[in-house]
Amino acid sequence: MNETPPIRPGMIVGILGGGQLGRMLALAAAEMGLSCHVYCPDPKSPAFAVAAARTVAPYEDEAALAAFAGAVDVVTFEFENVPAETLAFLAGRAPVFPGARSLTIAQDRLFEKRLMEAEGIPTAPFAEVAKQADIYSAIARAGRPAILKTRRLGYDGKGQAVIRAGDDPVAAWRAIGEVPAILEAYVAFEREVSVVLARGRDGGIRAFDITENVHENGILATSTVPAWITPALADEALAIAGTIAVALDHVGVLAVEMFVLPEGAPRRLLVNEIAPRVHNSGHWTSDACLCSQFEQHIRAVAGWPLADPARHSDATMTNLIGDAVDAWPALAAEPGARLHLYGKAETRPGRKMGHVNRIAPRSDG
Ligand code: AMP
Repeated sequence: MNETPPIRPGMIVGILGGGQLGRMLALAAAEMGLSCHVYCPDPKSPAFAVAAARTVAPYEDEAALAAFAGAVDVVTFEFENVPAETLAFLAGRAPVFPGARSLTIAQDRLFEKRLMEAEGIPTAPFAEVAKQADIYSAIARAGRPAILKTRRLGYDGKGQAVIRAGDDPVAAWRAIGEVPAILEAYVAFEREVSVVLARGRDGGIRAFDITENVHENGILATSTVPAWITPALADEALAIAGTIAVALDHVGVLAVEMFVLPEGAPRRLLVNEIAPRVHNSGHWTSDACLCSQFEQHIRAVAGWPLADPARHSDATMTNLIGDAVDAWPALAAEPGARLHLYGKAETRPGRKMGHVNRIAPRSDG
């Protein structure tokens, strides 16, 4: 049980990171009568446009961090690559949710995998690759095809190289920049799903419905609810995600991405990755649930009761990546579609510019 008093309307939530997730968190907080102070080194951050206050400073700037901690009532983060030292520094000055354990584990793929091992949660076979010479023993363990992934700072398929039969493993090691990595067996999955849940300060957990995700070039393309998954597998996925949330003593939204293997596989669910924050595969909740993942996260970190995450509609979320955003006039006119644009000044290939939620009456339940 956490003893920090709840955040009351009128108080200020500090958000580390100023991307679209921070922007949508700040919008949700505003609807709850809270205001947000966004801290981000990039002056062009999309969250600044909707925040009551901003700090533009590096994450290592202790004077700026101390002033930020003094100006807010609680601190959270919208991405997991905030340095752990930054969070530790702030935690000495203000309540911080989620805590250091969620951040440090989720920002390192090896720590993540070790947590799963410790909790008895299945993942793809993997091995640590700390130096070039390790790659051969790792392949012997994980087999081919395999994916070499940087331990830290990878996202949207970046920092990854596939090693197929006949490929030179050293070329993969060079391609990822010769940095500490893990090698993972390539999983012939049937589909990908994720669980987006929230854990409150009191330890209570509420999960959104399981989402089915399609990635293209390592980047999320669509998320659909309901997912094509049996009730038994859905229950198993929810139990796995809950176990992880408890193991991290997490407070806030947590996303757990999983592979679903074909029927007949010894274990049908493997955890791929966790995110200790609101997640792209939960964006459909804004328009298909009684409460969005953004409001739920703010509620959790603010010490409010978690909201009912019930889903009232079916939904498909489609990311608008790069110049796909140019279709906005047609999307804005499309019946049943809710368009969300991030206000980014510059369109670049691979950059997430917005998303559209296509909503239909609920087909199940
Ligand atoms: P990640 O950055 O680890 O979430 O990887 C991005 C996407 O790449 C995943 O959602 C999958 O579509 C694909 N991927 C990652 N790891 C594997 C794997 N071990 N086997 C098959 N596909 C993978």
